[in-house]
Amino acid sequence: MSVVGLKSVDSWYLNQPLDESDPELYGFIQKEKQRQKKGLEMIASENFTSLAVLQSLGSCLHNKYSEGYPGRRYYGGNEFIDQVELLCQRRALKVYGLDPEKWGVNVQPYSGSPANFAVYTALVEPHGRIMGLDLPDGGHLTHGYMTDKKKISATSIFFESMPYKVDPNTGLIDYNRLQENAKLFKPKLIIAGISCYPRDLDYKRFREIADENKAVLMADMAHVSGLVAAKVAPNPFEYCDVVTTTTHKTLRGPRAGIIFYRKGEVIKLINV
Ligand SMILES: *Cc1c(COP(=O)(O)O)cnc(C)c1O
Repeated sequence: MSVVGLKSVDSWYLNQPLDESDPELYGFIQKEKQRQKKGLEMIASENFTSLAVLQSLGSCLHNKYSEGYPGRRYYGGNEFIDQVELLCQRRALKVYGLDPEKWGVNVQPYSGSPANFAVYTALVEPHGRIMGLDLPDGGHLTHGYMTDKKKISATSIFFESMPYKVDPNTGLIDYNRLQENAKLFKPKLIIAGISCYPRDLDYKRFREIADENKAVLMADMAHVSGLVAAKVAPNPFEYCDVVTTTTHKTLRGPRAGIIFYRKGEVIKLINV
């Protein structure tokens, strides 16, 4: 076959729409689309993205490797990817009214779990101590979840985790007990974040407890980030050193994660 022939095969392959090139897969996607339209989705962490989000996700951006950071990549050809990432960083800071002099942002995590893991890896040494709300009490797996029998989350395998809990009588976070235990456990990092806790968090109280133990305070606002942006939920940026979020829950974006960090000594390990 001539080179010209190869080229035409290649362009045929590149331009085949999914319904023609893989009807089987296309069929499942159509079925899932109908399921999403007809079903009543009652999973609080899920959402429906806009057509514009889906178009961005299905674009040629997908073809590009871009390890590193804008202006310092390991691959060539990133001039436009850099613009996309810088635009995303600017918008992420703007939506929370953050001063770029004081706050940095990393928009690269694939979702919330890797975002949290990246923060612990950067700021807590291997087997360093973390404290998060226990999963059965409304916390998230990635806040160090383990049971008596099994270390469920990698965050409890690579880091030493001591959970804090809600008061069984009131259902509210037992801040006094957290304070007592933190004094004994001396965590390197405390996580203020929830998946199943329908109350506001007292970030000021978390800050006091973190300061008593010279711990880093991280908020994981994955579920409420849209409410924080709309200023109808307490603002974690007032008190926390690091704030992580997903982008696909109340922010209604694509499936991804963001790490915000207060610029300064404590946080010098993020974005290096
Ligand atoms: C959903 C959630 C995450 C993790 O998000 P994934 O995108 O599923 O990895 C992290 N923290 C909290 C509090 C969450 O609710």
